[in-house]
Amino acid sequence: MTTLNTLSGCVTRYDPQALPVCAAQAIVLQWVTPLAASERVPLRDALARVLAADVISPIDVPAHDNSAMDGYAFDGTALEGATDPLTLNIVGKAFAGHPYTGEIAARTCVRIMTGAPMPAGCDTVVPQEHTQPDGDSVTFAAHAVARGANRRRQGEDLAKGLAALRAGRVLRASDIGLLASLGLVDVEVKQRLRVAYFSTGDELRAPGDPLDAGCIYDSNRYTLGAMLKRLDVEAIDLGMVRDDPVALGATLRQAAECADVVLTSGGVSVGDADFTREQVETLGDVTFWGLAMRPGRPLAFGRIWSGGRPGVGHPALLFGLPGNPVATMVTFYQIVRPALLAMAGATPQPVPLIPTRCDAPIRKRPGRTEFQRGIATRDGTGQWRVTPTGSQSSGALSTMSEANCFIVLAHEASDLDAGDVVDVMLFDGLV
Ligand code: AMP
Ligand code: MG
Repeated sequence: MTTLNTLSGCVTRYDPQALPVCAAQAIVLQWVTPLAASERVPLRDALARVLAADVISPIDVPAHDNSAMDGYAFDGTALEGATDPLTLNIVGKAFAGHPYTGEIAARTCVRIMTGAPMPAGCDTVVPQEHTQPDGDSVTFAAHAVARGANRRRQGEDLAKGLAALRAGRVLRASDIGLLASLGLVDVEVKQRLRVAYFSTGDELRAPGDPLDAGCIYDSNRYTLGAMLKRLDVEAIDLGMVRDDPVALGATLRQAAECADVVLTSGGVSVGDADFTREQVETLGDVTFWGLAMRPGRPLAFGRIWSGGRPGVGHPALLFGLPGNPVATMVTFYQIVRPALLAMAGATPQPVPLIPTRCDAPIRKRPGRTEFQRGIATRDGTGQWRVTPTGSQSSGALSTMSEANCFIVLAHEASDLDAGDVVDVMLFDGLV
């Protein structure tokens, strides 16, 4: 047992061979130092990049009061004590990009289109569908319009001088558009995190090569490459490494030299061909090497140095992920992903857990967090329900493809009956 003083909330004593997931997440984040370096990139290249500094709005958006509807703009004082119906004379037109610059006298109005600037002296728009135009005048029910209706105010979207977006934001499509609406052409973002990864195992063959007896194709390197691509890091593929301590040590050093974070798959359990932990202990230090988690029990976390021993050369954080393909994915999403985002400078965003009724009973032993693969669907009454995929084997990658969510079973949870409510973590979001 090791005592950890600074851990917030979760546990203060832990077993480094069977660490609760929340403790592992907290420990990993304590080791993370966000990247300092930043660069300017054009807006078109900024999607998924991490904002390096607050963006202060240089202008009001919208830049002027404007109409939210096609209709007629007028001075809302005309509504005070008005008897229905109200008739106003039309004195001009205002289109988006073509303001009306004339005067507005009492009982007059301007024909106005959506987005057109509000003429001086007008504060209210009556939508055209509520009016009866007749030549140069228009008539409508005064009681149906409130003063100030259908007017968008200058700066109502973004006010000049205020932070439009905060540092640490992972830029989404709306943010790119928002930056464009401020007239900006480029933006300061954190440099991309460099992540080197490789798989280990004598049994691995590259897709495209013949499959020798007793061998399997290396799928983890492809899964890892794809998951890293989604995080928009600079992913460095170092290939496959044999179950050989010398080859493994050399590749780990090479990885630490060229990257901020190193991910390996396989070779982290206690089998005779599992050399990852031993090599990491030589090149640096291992903080923990097992999680109270399923799938994903063997997972080594620590730091390695390219010079071959602690403090020498370039340091890199090291995640030795389990070789079983589903365990590789689950540990990536639950442990590695939050660390990579924090290191890339992103403000932490908890992944939503959605309480959902489960259709089947689930066997669950207290004392470990489980991430079962599930399929969430809406039933005939419109309620969301979740069903575990048949197999929960950590080797069955097909079930990850079949699933659309994780069913998250908390550390202390025990067996569940059909109909119980479970927490669901959806795979796909809309934006
Ligand atoms: P290990 O953690 O090295 O003991 O591997 C556990 C299981 O995962 C074994 O069945 C391995 O054959 C399998 N495995 C390890 N690495 C990979 C990989 N890169 N792609 C697919 N399966 C793997
Ligand atoms: Mg292996």
